[in-house]
Amino acid sequence: MKFIIVTGGVISGLGKGITTSSIAKLMQAKGLNVIIIKIDPYINYDAGTMNPYQHGEVFVLDDGAEVDLDLGNYERFLDISLKGENNITTGKIYLSVIEKERKGEYLGKTVQIIPHVTDEIVERIKTIGRNYDLTVIEIGGTVGDIESMPFLESMRQLRRELGDENVLFVHTTLVPIIDVVGEQKTKPTQHSVRELRSLGIQPDIIVGRCRVPLTNETKEKISSFCDVPLNAVISAPDAKRSIYEVPVMFEEQKLDEYIDKKLKLNRGSPNLNSWKEFLSNLYTPESDVTIAIVGKYVNLKDSYLSHMESFIHVSSHLRVKVNIKWVDSELYETGKEDLSNVDGIVIPGGFGQRGTEGKILAAKYARENKIPFLGICLGFQMAVVEFSRNVLGYRDANSTEFIPDTKHPVIDLMEEQRNIDKYGGTMRLGAQKVIIKENSISYSLYNKTVIYERHRHRYEVNPKYIEEMERAGMIFTGVDETGIRMEIFELKNHPFYIGTQFHPEFKSRPLNPSRMHLGLVKAAMEYKRSKIR
Ligand code: GLN
Repeated sequence: MKFIIVTGGVISGLGKGITTSSIAKLMQAKGLNVIIIKIDPYINYDAGTMNPYQHGEVFVLDDGAEVDLDLGNYERFLDISLKGENNITTGKIYLSVIEKERKGEYLGKTVQIIPHVTDEIVERIKTIGRNYDLTVIEIGGTVGDIESMPFLESMRQLRRELGDENVLFVHTTLVPIIDVVGEQKTKPTQHSVRELRSLGIQPDIIVGRCRVPLTNETKEKISSFCDVPLNAVISAPDAKRSIYEVPVMFEEQKLDEYIDKKLKLNRGSPNLNSWKEFLSNLYTPESDVTIAIVGKYVNLKDSYLSHMESFIHVSSHLRVKVNIKWVDSELYETGKEDLSNVDGIVIPGGFGQRGTEGKILAAKYARENKIPFLGICLGFQMAVVEFSRNVLGYRDANSTEFIPDTKHPVIDLMEEQRNIDKYGGTMRLGAQKVIIKENSISYSLYNKTVIYERHRHRYEVNPKYIEEMERAGMIFTGVDETGIRMEIFELKNHPFYIGTQFHPEFKSRPLNPSRMHLGLVKAAMEYKRSKIR
């Protein structure tokens, strides 16, 4: 059992998730079986009940866990599928400690943060770590936050128990530049390392986040003030072109060799060949297209992180630059934004009525003007509403999520969702089987009749309307195992107008892009060529 623990100092939003993913990737490239755990010190049990404006997109795993978006980065970098247990929150830890207390498992003792909460944390981490060569743990938040204290104390205990050869600490900090001369300031790093030391943790490696590469002088300063060897001060300048560059930056600074020696791993050099090929394809596009993302959280781009990543994966795969045009659905509704110059349109998932009329209008625009279109989850549902209103003629068609007593509830709750009274973790979640009909665009994209894609929704296409929709040209080419739930639609007489009840963006990987995003971009390239012709 070997562990690398990544903490962060000075400010949040340093890109600690990318640092963690990149270290893990680099070590994986040395042939190690690597896993990552994210610790989120908030009290929420999981990310499922959080508004995207708080922490960005809620990411969904195969097992249906609703987790922090960093787990999406881990999956994309390592090309593995994680489980809910890979995301530990204060809520999960306390819930289980309290449940144990209620069962009498603590035998009459006073239950305390140390040792009961810390033991619970250490136990969970070791249970996962036992099955891997290396476990990388990212501690969310910033050193010094009250919430992260029990977790840092647990990590200190873990090192004490397993020793320096098995547990290594990486501290990520900010090295700001404030004057015009460009001097790199190391004081914040010194302070935050002091804070970490006051908790009994001396970092082994310091990763300095800076706009530009750290100078030798900066590295030397950090090394001497923070008491780490010079070659353990790692420069992490802003990755100008792509976050996927960071493992290569770390390799160049021989970070893997240093870790290898410290943890006595005895592995050879990392093999990042296919990774580098992915990057070089990404950097040498032969053409470009513009795709609009029409949503209501466009002011916080992290809300659609997995979509942006999917397009980057497709971009490298097809050697085409994908420009994203962000369109606020509410502004589109009032005519303040337009879609006239785009080559493709995505309407992503979402919750709540605000902005839905704009999404319906965008779906109509794409349908009527034969612009390649991909509707996902709420986007799928809104396209069904649009079709019902403007093709079937049901002017008041809607989802009962927004108008509970609408006369034409074309999107509605299925029976099992009707009696649910709790919000957290009760949607239809995670990887579910989808059966694809042959002779469809979807089949040509997946080349399979059975796929598993990740879900996160309550509402569905109302089965009562399906026959009528299909007669009018909206064909459901993907269904669930029972055949009652609609998973994919495709529009007849349109080059690419597809909706999916599932979220293909969650399983997109650098070397294996989302099939649906790939299909959309290919269609967008074709559409752009036809415009020029
Ligand atoms: N709000 C819709 C539902 O619950 C769509 C959810 C989503 O887009 N993820 O079904």
